[in-house]
Amino acid sequence: TNILNSSSVSKVRVVLRVRPFLPREISDVQPCVSVINGHHDRDASEVAIHLKDPLSCRRECYQLDALFHGRDDDEENVRQIFDREVNPLIQAIFNGFNATVLAFGATGSGKTFTMQGTDELPGLMPLAMSTILSICEKTASRAEVSYYEVYLDRCWDLLEVKANEVAIWEDKDGQVHLKGLSSIPVNSMPEFHEAYSCGVQRRKVAHTGLNDVSSRSHGVLVISVLSEGGVTGKINLIDLAAGNEDNRRTGNEGLRLQESAKINQSLFALSNVVYALNNNLPRVPYRESKLTRILQDSLGGTSRALMVACLNPGEYQESLRTVSLAARSRHI
Ligand code: ADP
Ligand code: MG
Repeated sequence: TNILNSSSVSKVRVVLRVRPFLPREISDVQPCVSVINGHHDRDASEVAIHLKDPLSCRRECYQLDALFHGRDDDEENVRQIFDREVNPLIQAIFNGFNATVLAFGATGSGKTFTMQGTDELPGLMPLAMSTILSICEKTASRAEVSYYEVYLDRCWDLLEVKANEVAIWEDKDGQVHLKGLSSIPVNSMPEFHEAYSCGVQRRKVAHTGLNDVSSRSHGVLVISVLSEGGVTGKINLIDLAAGNEDNRRTGNEGLRLQESAKINQSLFALSNVVYALNNNLPRVPYRESKLTRILQDSLGGTSRALMVACLNPGEYQESLRTVSLAARSRHI
């Protein structure tokens, strides 16, 4: 079955996820995000988001594809994102396509909560894995996972016993490969959780001395589906580094400054790629960053992708940067 019609092939949906206030935040912060026009029911093709600065009362308005507002018990909300936005991508990978889901936003905005989730509230990664496993069972396919991080434009395997550098290698047809990236077969959720949590642990060890490691590197989980003939399709599920820090404001220096420059550069490149795809530009600038080069086979072309912009409802400046990057990528 062809579930991709030609007009939707290379479009990247850009949606917003606003986390709820946390118990410790509730007393003293005012929300800076609101939705206008009530354009957030499921059939609307886009939503208008208002950001208002509680201090200056300045307002900004942006259009995005959908909004998911977190609640205190967020299970239903993650499910909604999964069912409406991610599940169609999973169906596509069983039909031979590649897919990408990226969460981006400031530190503390809910990227990891959305992608990884918690034991009680599984995020998009485990939800994708369990859905893929159940389709595999019905279709006599099998699944494999890889997990790596991109840090300072270098790529590190997180499933290897020692975090091993993976070479980014381009063949003569311009296809990019991650040479030597390990992938392991996964047949059940316990197997997945074991592999994934070992990877998370390795990521921490590789950056001892850094707090909030995950904010400085992009974490990429790849789930591939294989049938007798070989790889059918794959989905990349990515917890992006927190970018767009204002280095003058944060006083970043040395390594921090270098990291933050690389992260900003790669997020900017990503947004340029998505913009080019959404606006049918003749040239898609994949070569502007390692991240976009690596993702080239899973963004654009016949692939399908989703960007989830994550917001902390109490942070105006950060939210403004995240939403403007999101809206800029989507702009048509
Ligand atoms: P990030 O990965 O973007 O830095 P986290 O995912 O770690 O942010 O989230 C920051 C904090 O907010 C964590 O304590 C997390 O449990 C909490 N949180 C994030 N999103 C939600 C949500 N939708 N519902 C409830 N708590 C959330
Ligand atoms: Mg995180």
